[in-house]
Amino acid sequence: MAAKIIDGKQIAEELRAEIKKQVEELKKDNIVPGLGVILVGEDPASISYVTAKERACEKLGIYSEDNRLPDDTSQQDLIAMVNKMNADPKINGILVQLPLPKHLDESEVLLAIDPTKDVDGFHPMNIGKMVAGEKAFLPCTPHGIIQLLLRSKVKIEGAHVVVVGRSNIVGKPIANMLIQKADNGNATVTVCHTRTKDLPYHTKQADIIIAAAGRPNTITADMVKDDVVVIDVGVNRVEDATKKRGYRLVGDVDFAALTEKASLITPVPGGVGPMTITMLLYNTVESAKAAAGKS
Ligand code: NAP
Repeated sequence: MAAKIIDGKQIAEELRAEIKKQVEELKKDNIVPGLGVILVGEDPASISYVTAKERACEKLGIYSEDNRLPDDTSQQDLIAMVNKMNADPKINGILVQLPLPKHLDESEVLLAIDPTKDVDGFHPMNIGKMVAGEKAFLPCTPHGIIQLLLRSKVKIEGAHVVVVGRSNIVGKPIANMLIQKADNGNATVTVCHTRTKDLPYHTKQADIIIAAAGRPNTITADMVKDDVVVIDVGVNRVEDATKKRGYRLVGDVDFAALTEKASLITPVPGGVGPMTITMLLYNTVESAKAAAGKS
């Protein structure tokens, strides 16, 4: 039987409608959640991500402040900008668009963000709290994946989840979130990476596969059991002469073949992607509520 598609766009829309209602409630008390965005340089992908985030804020009534800095910005000037936003009561969430140009020290910049405004969830304080199972800003992509699973009625508790990838932004945090002894956790998690011996051995045992390798066709149909749930995080460009731009976007899994075997699967695009920005907006509103003593 063909898999049911997990429609990330639709789920993101539902969640955004819920966030919008919260923003409207806050406005009755003259509270306007604010997101401060810092973009260094002219990387086209980063510009388009930042623009999408700002548009999403506008649609939901969230104030957004756009700070674009030149490619040769110094570490000192960038941290001064972060500190300015740390001190600005209009700003509840600070987003430094990554990657930064090579001459800048990313860790030091992330460390400079006030942890109570760290809506990306990358500050070591929030990472530590997340690992310890305490209340924290959760990183947006993994948090979005949990929401996709919950809203698609996938049982996480007791499931064997195989995560392919161990990056700081996807693989490690999603594995940590899923093993928490808490609602939305209690899974048994295996984390695979390029040094994993016999990847198919592990993936064949998965009830849920989260593919975050950044390589097309990392997971093929012969590597999974029937009725697996597949969350495809990968976003890869593959050449396609039939497309005007010369490429198309694919995920990390063989979508066509897995659709025949899985029970549920996310498409690329239109699966995990729309959830990432949505969870950023969610964190910004949570931060505004906390600042107003309303959480
Ligand atoms: P990353 O930092 O490049 O990490 C990739 C991970 O996958 C690494 O841990 C690597 O192992 C592992 N890996 C690569 N090839 C593998 C293979 N053949 N078998 C097993 N493991 C393999 O990537 P990332 O930042 O986590 O992103 C992963 C993908 O998700 C990318 O395509 C990215 O564009 C996409 N992404 C999408 C969103 C979204 O919102 N939709 C958000 C974030 C990322 P090693 O550690 O051993 O090198």
